[in-house]
Amino acid sequence: MTAAGAPKLVIVGGGYLGSDLAKSLDAVMDVTLIERASHFTHAPAMIRAMVDPALLDRALIPYDGLLSRGRVIRGEAASVDGGGVTLTDGTRIAGDYIVLATGSANAAPFKSATGDIEGLRADAARWNAALRGASRVLIIGAGAVGTELAGEIAHAHPDKTVTLVASDPALFPGFPAKLGASLAAKLQAMGVKVITGARAASLPGRDQPEGGTVTLSNGAAIEADLIVPAVGSRPLTSVADTLPDVGRAADGRVAVDGYLRPSSLPNVFAAGDIAAAGDAMTIVAISRQKPWLEKTLKSLAGGKRIEGLKPYAPWGEKAPILVPLGPRRGSSYLMVATLGDWVTRMMKGRDLFLTKYNKLLGRA
Ligand SMILES: Cc1cc2nc3c(=O)[nH]c(=O)nc-3n(C[C@H](O)[C@H](O)[C@H](O)COP(=O)(O)OP(=O)(O)OC[C@H]3O[C@@H](n4cnc5c(N)ncnc54)[C@H](O)[C@@H]3O)c2cc1C
Repeated sequence: MTAAGAPKLVIVGGGYLGSDLAKSLDAVMDVTLIERASHFTHAPAMIRAMVDPALLDRALIPYDGLLSRGRVIRGEAASVDGGGVTLTDGTRIAGDYIVLATGSANAAPFKSATGDIEGLRADAARWNAALRGASRVLIIGAGAVGTELAGEIAHAHPDKTVTLVASDPALFPGFPAKLGASLAAKLQAMGVKVITGARAASLPGRDQPEGGTVTLSNGAAIEADLIVPAVGSRPLTSVADTLPDVGRAADGRVAVDGYLRPSSLPNVFAAGDIAAAGDAMTIVAISRQKPWLEKTLKSLAGGKRIEGLKPYAPWGEKAPILVPLGPRRGSSYLMVATLGDWVTRMMKGRDLFLTKYNKLLGRA
């Protein structure tokens, strides 16, 4: 048990931000993590799980080994105020500090929108079966998820025709041009057809695997046996929306002040995918936000005033990215340099950080 009188920290959402922060502060605060799902979803591995469903056993990780002093409460948070969090079943969990980290939903089979892990497993199996039966795969959206998926399919199924459609004129326009050019060249060498500067006029639903014909804004009509819409994540802000005076950024995330606070309540914080903190919706962003929150909460618990502490500074243009194209190839942008297959494979492609997150969750 944490020492009697330790400040109570309540975290809503056990994704990358919530789980890591809960574990980091477990020894010094009285931590309660509220999570509606039975398992942590390790999103980067869910892409490869579409071609290799055996990965699901390590990509979906139960929460029972996460904390040794605090507790993970399985439940759905409904609302939050300055004194704590109320669950949908009426349970009240009191906190001195509250961190909202409810994250985002993405399309099946990558991430659940409801926390239904069995449903996510079933989706993954359905999409894998559809992929195996398809000879022409069309991926709409060439962010990291769409681009990595194209690489995974081309690596595992070189016999299939894979087309990747990007709405921007080049891949990864937010990074130096060399990164996008190198990824496009590698994908083409793997047999992927990369179409840039085109949008799909309409898309099938994101939840059921479907084939059909997609007309693009450049006039092309592409027929495919399987269409994968990889068009981004949707922030899950319903709990944060119950706070007083919450603002909304243009991308749908909640606005936060320099100390990652989304409302006028001084002890309620928001971070990760739900918070418009100046970072992208990535684990990379959380690798910066989590240490800042950990340090800030420790200082506050030690009696410091927040106004005397350093505000959060987002990554800005220094944000790194690792984009594997299957387990062997890929390109990355790290420390202002674009790097190739070897670095991408060693840092991410071969293990996809599965070992790191299984360790965080207390699994061998
Ligand atoms: C397929 C895919 C691959 C990705 N790969 C990468 C990558 O390689 N590198 C990278 O940097 N980023 C990657 N990302 C982005 C990354 O996954 C997100 O940025 C990250 O998940 C955000 O973490 P989070 O803690 O904010 O939220 P999440 O990871 O979304 O976790 C939120 C948690 O809150 C829970 N929750 C939500 N609402 C409630 C509620 N009301 N009550 C209780 N619990 C609730 C959810 O069940 C969930 O467990 C990827 C995303 C996807 C979809």
